[in-house]
Amino acid sequence: MRKKVIAGNWKMNKVSNEADQFIDDIAGKVPNDDNVEAIVCAPFPFLKSLVEKTNGTSVKIGAQNMHFEESGAFTGEVSPVMLNDLGVTHVVLGHSERREHFAETNETVNKKAHAAFKHQLTPIVCVGETLDQREANETMDHIEQQVREGLAGLPDEQIAQTIVAYEPIWAIGTGKTASSEDANEVCTHIRNVLKDATSEEVAEKVVIQYGGSVKPANVDELLAQSDIDGALVGGASLEADSFLKLVEAGT
Ligand code: PEP
Repeated sequence: MRKKVIAGNWKMNKVSNEADQFIDDIAGKVPNDDNVEAIVCAPFPFLKSLVEKTNGTSVKIGAQNMHFEESGAFTGEVSPVMLNDLGVTHVVLGHSERREHFAETNETVNKKAHAAFKHQLTPIVCVGETLDQREANETMDHIEQQVREGLAGLPDEQIAQTIVAYEPIWAIGTGKTASSEDANEVCTHIRNVLKDATSEEVAEKVVIQYGGSVKPANVDELLAQSDIDGALVGGASLEADSFLKLVEAGT
């Protein structure tokens, strides 16, 4: 059975004392349950402190992006070596905001996915369609291309460990959630693409999250779907109480 993975994506929010306070507020309250994993994906400046504060707890800390190179003349960038050195365990790759504002492509996502595994980081690879693509019936083809190109060349054992986050762009930060059936249909499609690219055994191991205005009020219905194994959550992950409710829904 796949575990449920609830990942908070803080985006560019909070200052350091607020970030620390969040961990203090959830400390001891996140269930130590093999069936659910809680990850906080925070801005780079907070990662060191958050890794230290969560040491010995069941909360994992992730980054929201990274470069694919290990070091070098890339002013302003952060490398997988640096994240691994800090004790970060996960990294979000190809979030739609990075694709839209920072020219992230399937090719760069793919290079980053390879780099992540090389440095013991679990990638959370985001895919999703625009409203125009959905209305033009292009969702399934677009998602298939993002999955195939984003994960190209990864060995089966790494694909099995990859977390794929299906995030329809029109549902991110808008309050609009895909219906749980529609979200599940795309997540099932992702699993079928993975089956075709690898094997049934591998595809059945992959954790596929849904993201897009997930909140305590709709998380149960989403997590009850056959191919939705968790959530990548923006707005509702910023408050400790609401994040805890989302994690509890996964137990
Ligand atoms: C996200 O940041 O990936 C996201 C899904 O945001 P929100 O939950 O606010 O829609």
